[in-house]
Amino acid sequence: MPPKKYYAIGVDLGGTKISAGIVSSSGKVILREKIPTMVALGGKTVLNRLALAISLLFKKAPPAVRKEIRGIGIGIPGMVEHEKGIVHEPPNIPALNGVNVKKFIQRRFKKPAFIANDANAHALGEHTFGAGKGTQNMVCITLGTGLGGGIILNGKLYTGSFENAGELGHIVIRKEGIPCNCGNTGCVEAYVGANFIAERARKAIKAGTKSSVVKLVNGDLSKITPHLLAKAARQGDRYARQLWAEVGEEIGTAIVSIANILGPEKVIVSGGVSRAGDILFKPMIKEFKKRSFKYLRTRIKIVPGKLLDDAGILGSSSLVFKQS
Ligand SMILES: [Zn+2]
Repeated sequence: MPPKKYYAIGVDLGGTKISAGIVSSSGKVILREKIPTMVALGGKTVLNRLALAISLLFKKAPPAVRKEIRGIGIGIPGMVEHEKGIVHEPPNIPALNGVNVKKFIQRRFKKPAFIANDANAHALGEHTFGAGKGTQNMVCITLGTGLGGGIILNGKLYTGSFENAGELGHIVIRKEGIPCNCGNTGCVEAYVGANFIAERARKAIKAGTKSSVVKLVNGDLSKITPHLLAKAARQGDRYARQLWAEVGEEIGTAIVSIANILGPEKVIVSGGVSRAGDILFKPMIKEFKKRSFKYLRTRIKIVPGKLLDDAGILGSSSLVFKQS
């Protein structure tokens, strides 16, 4: 007899939208919901929106699925006390600072709830269902507005003594570099965040650099995005290729530190900005090999994530699957 299927709800609580889904134990998203977070209306509203997304899924689920839902996993930006379920300093949802989200959800739905930092949940998702399946030790880097990180050691999510482990975006790559939101200077995140990449291109173009991305945005430089810069690079644009090579080198430099500290089998690079593909991965891997111990060069694999658009939902659901 095949093993019985069971399910979890995975929720990605973001600053602008809440994405939630019902996920089967084999890693398939069978139902989805997406609603605005409405951060401007305050913490109570955000909690109620979160509960709304979850209750919509319960309502839509076929009865056979509903009774096999084992729990609810939620990924939230910021630092999260996992056991207690309290959120600290979520950057895009400040109203949730100090709030016990776990308690709120457990009371409302009478199901076990698990809360984690979103990038940590993402790493656990890649370990459970994606590119990190079968590894003992791995690291996942998520490239988006910032650079998020998650660490799996001995098959488990590692969060450190103060629940802050995995803040890989704040690896310093230039001692006297650009100021970062965290108070430090020269953090890798400050050089590879989506807005920074776009802004860098805008400045260069305004200063006279030629790039075909200008055509892709019909001359409106405010519309430049990493996605379009990747398109321009793939079409052979010299400036865009150079820009991605530099972004790759910055991340490759940070990966060397990760490799030296943790010695993971794999470093998975995922998130929207990572979709640039080879134009990012080639220089990133080259820089890693240039700077790392010879012994590690071919042993540590640097690979793209596999969960793509469902990373948030699958990652959060894996918080439940890893516990049950
Ligand atoms: Zn920083």
